Amino acid sequence: MTAKIIDGKAFAAVVRGKVAKHVTRLKDEHGITPGLAVVLVGEDPASQVYVRSKGKLTVEVGMNSYEHKLDAATPEDELLALIQKLNNDPQVHGILVQLPLPDHLNEGLVINSIDPAKDVDGFHISNVGLLATGQKSMVPCTPLGCLMMLRDHHGSLSGLNAVVVGRSNIVGKPMAQLLLRDSCTVTIAHSRTKDIEALCRGADILVAAVGRSEMITGDWVKPGASVIDVGINRIDAPEKGEGKTRLVGDVQFSSASEVAGAITPVPGGVGPMTIACLLANTVTACCRANGIAEPEGLTA
Ligand code: NAP
Repeated sequence: MTAKIIDGKAFAAVVRGKVAKHVTRLKDEHGITPGLAVVLVGEDPASQVYVRSKGKLTVEVGMNSYEHKLDAATPEDELLALIQKLNNDPQVHGILVQLPLPDHLNEGLVINSIDPAKDVDGFHISNVGLLATGQKSMVPCTPLGCLMMLRDHHGSLSGLNAVVVGRSNIVGKPMAQLLLRDSCTVTIAHSRTKDIEALCRGADILVAAVGRSEMITGDWVKPGASVIDVGINRIDAPEKGEGKTRLVGDVQFSSASEVAGAITPVPGGVGPMTIACLLANTVTACCRANGIAEPEGLTA
């Protein structure tokens, strides 16, 4: 079997198109421009790239982008004061604090100081609780993007066996909650799971969020399964020249794509969907804040 490639890059462009349409509607019919504030503390190179591309795509869909770049040594009370200001700013509908934060800052405290209604990353403890209890919440962007692609491929996910490898708060756990909400039978695997290969082989839906290059090979995959590869790992690529690198996922694409029914590539799978879902969450937050019906298909 050769798997259907789930093209996250193309899907993300469709999602951004829907977001842009709703932004136009909000402007034309309500005189409101959704605004996303991104806070970056320090000079982490990967974070700088993410923040730049988030800002660019925010403007592309017609929203206002507010970037706040703070020095790496910014004291915690200064960061909390900025978040408070953004919480109170009616022009700002979404707030994202780029992680990781420098060591002297308490990540939990900072995230939980964001107004839950503006928490477009969905990491605030209130949103985590709302998601876990099946209530309306802001949904973390990466698992939301995975869910959208799975729903698009399968239609209904009801009754399917799903295995999520990884139990982080930002990917594994919310992914499992979303699949459970769509009536999958969900198992979460992690570093202590016994006979993980056999467990994965039972999965109709296999989500890999581990952070280990190509750990999941074709012999872990059930024939016909849908494989969603969240991993982003940079490895040496001497075949491209000295000192060159390339990105790979947590799944070995060459072998897994021979067995799976559908699979996301890396790059070009989950990654582009994450930013598209951030924009979708900002529109959703803006609609909720203004008592306007929220667009269909842009949240869980
Ligand atoms: P994380 O916080 O490091 O969590 C990794 C999880 O994998 C942990 O639960 C860990 O288990 C589990 N694990 C580690 N080694 C394992 C093994 N040998 N067998 C089974 N499970 C194992 O990572 P994360 O933040 O969830 O990110 C996971 C990957 O997704 C990374 O590559 C990251 O770069 C990528 N990512 C991509 C996007 C995107 O937009 N595409 C967004 C976020 C993250 P324990 O809990 O037992 O230690």
